[in-house]
Amino acid sequence: MLDEHVREAIPERIRGLWELAQNLWWTWHPQARRLFRALDYQAWRETTHNPVLMLQIIRPERFQEVAHDPEFLALYDQVMAEFQEYLARPPLELPGPVAYFCAEFGVHVSLPIYAGGLGILAGDTLKEASDIALPMVGVGLIYSQGYTTQRLREDGWPEDLHRTLDHRDHPLQLAKTPEGSPLVFEIPAFTPSVRAQVYVAKIGRVPLFLLTTDVEGNTPWDRAISQQLYTTDLEQRLRQEWVLGVGGMRALEMLGIRPAVLHLNEGHPAFALLERLRQFMGQGLSFEEALERARKTTVFTTHTPLPVATDVFPFALLDRYLGPYCQEHGLPREAILELGTNPTDPGAGFNMTVFALRLSQHVNAVSKRHGEVARRIWQGIKFNDENVKIEAITNGIHLFTWIEPLRVQRLLDKYLGPAWRKNPENPEIWQRVEEIPDEELWAVHQERKEALIAELVARARKRWREGAFAKNVLAFGSLLDPHVLTLGFARRFTAYKRPDLILSDPERLKRLVNDPLRPIQIIFAGKAHPADIEGKRLIQKVFQLAGDPAFAGRIAFVEEYDQHLARFLVAGVDVWVNTPLPPLEASGTSGMKASVNGVPNLSVLDGWWPEGYTGENGWAFGGEEHHGERNPQDAEALYRLLEEKIVPLYYERGPDGIPHGFVRIMKAAIRTVAPRFCTRRMLREYLEKFYLPALGAEKEGI
Ligand SMILES: *Cc1c(COP(=O)(O)O)cnc(C)c1O
Repeated sequence: MLDEHVREAIPERIRGLWELAQNLWWTWHPQARRLFRALDYQAWRETTHNPVLMLQIIRPERFQEVAHDPEFLALYDQVMAEFQEYLARPPLELPGPVAYFCAEFGVHVSLPIYAGGLGILAGDTLKEASDIALPMVGVGLIYSQGYTTQRLREDGWPEDLHRTLDHRDHPLQLAKTPEGSPLVFEIPAFTPSVRAQVYVAKIGRVPLFLLTTDVEGNTPWDRAISQQLYTTDLEQRLRQEWVLGVGGMRALEMLGIRPAVLHLNEGHPAFALLERLRQFMGQGLSFEEALERARKTTVFTTHTPLPVATDVFPFALLDRYLGPYCQEHGLPREAILELGTNPTDPGAGFNMTVFALRLSQHVNAVSKRHGEVARRIWQGIKFNDENVKIEAITNGIHLFTWIEPLRVQRLLDKYLGPAWRKNPENPEIWQRVEEIPDEELWAVHQERKEALIAELVARARKRWREGAFAKNVLAFGSLLDPHVLTLGFARRFTAYKRPDLILSDPERLKRLVNDPLRPIQIIFAGKAHPADIEGKRLIQKVFQLAGDPAFAGRIAFVEEYDQHLARFLVAGVDVWVNTPLPPLEASGTSGMKASVNGVPNLSVLDGWWPEGYTGENGWAFGGEEHHGERNPQDAEALYRLLEEKIVPLYYERGPDGIPHGFVRIMKAAIRTVAPRFCTRRMLREYLEKFYLPALGAEKEGI
């Protein structure tokens, strides 16, 4: 949150920087990124690309310099014109915005309120809504202590250092009521009362409203409601979801926003439906009518293929909040409790997913395969004697965020023209990827790989200076070689993702990494949930191999996997590896990010990959679901693909030194994945299948 005095310190000629810094629009517009880099490259790096912080630390003389630099001013004027034009585009006409609720949003590294894939998807969705001028508002929470830094001990055990989020350092502003005062309000049904403050982050044209109870005047227990993402204490978790759902809807009402459609991204925000019912009943509808109307206009996206991973709250616990709430607003408590009861386990309590399933007419899973699984696990859920229908809308990624901007986007501009930016869904435009000369694509890729390794070495050097152990510094990737076939494995460390599958035969792996002519190297990164001990053990296991001289420094574990590191990795390794246990990867998106940068996916046929794999754009194995031990068989398939297909292809060079066979697969990866797995396609599906029918509206001119 930038103070006015920061604004005053910027010379008037370039004062628009203040505005620009506070709208995350700049994050996916390469010229705007260039502008901040040019403003002060050192500050840009030191703040890990955080213009809000940059504007606070830049020397006044530097502002004066750039304010008189014709080159800077030309770029500034161009960016500001583009920014204004973007914001001025007329929106799609809907009776009201889509309110998109999620427990986490991964928009940019400078707004650290996300844990992983769910948040990144939510962030990408808001950016896409902004790009197509779909009226949308996001609603989530700020986690003031949820911001952790991963540090590996000497023995490889990961520790999470807690940091406190200071609003002044992030692109946040106070949300204001229509009367212009900052919004502070009491969370419904909490006694004694708990106050929430609302901030807004601007994602292009889309406002993202973020609630926090970590405000002065609340007790420490109440302040802690929104301090940590997915807090493990059951009652605190319930209160967190209540603040998100009930508090979030109440906040929109007080801000004068009336959503036409409610989109619940995963079950956490499902209490928003209570407020929706209250509002409709307040307009004179009966409970049954309100229920009908809420169902018709609610979209629910389920993300987990595991029923045990859904939030279930004991009835008595929920009743502490639901009881008073229903009493105050005349809602039928028993009927609501029943709507959240899972018929296959009625005693367990109130199930957030079951509640959302019953109250949403428009439900989807996040890949076709996940659709099959979700229909199977939720087949007993009925509303008015009818089975809840679950469709599949496969996730996508926001291409302008994930295609590396400095080199890869420029290469696409050169060979595909501006068409790919306007019309990313059109496969014919992507066909032109074939026209990129092999040597040019290879040179660009090789440069991204060198940039990745340079970044890892710089990080290792920094940690060495900070006093990290020598072995750790080596294990962080100091010995990586840009000429070696490089595999990347970066994601949340948890058992079902099987990060150690590729380590399961250490002798075989040793032969692969130590091959004198055709070696491989592997870069791992990822955090484990603080409570996931097994996940932490897996990190330690990888780290131990990384520090073992027998693996020659060719296995690295990089600390602090976040969106910033992810961008380097998905463009800089040669092959992206994914080895989840089917069918537990609902979708997965990191393989999409890699593919669109020309980094082919090597994955178990799970999540999005059965839809994405064409036989020529990457490698696939082991999709069937079966019970019992399957690791040896999957590991065998993985090693064989590496030994027999990938390694030979990568090292088979033409007289020009370029692996033309491998480049063919890189091109196929870009060409086939970009048009189908982008958020443009995904959001259009949501619009056509769900949002417009929910509004009883027709598709017009998009
Ligand atoms: C994309 C992304 C994820 C999700 O990747 P999966 O393939 O779903 O595991 C998680 N974390 C970060 C930082 C990401 O960028």
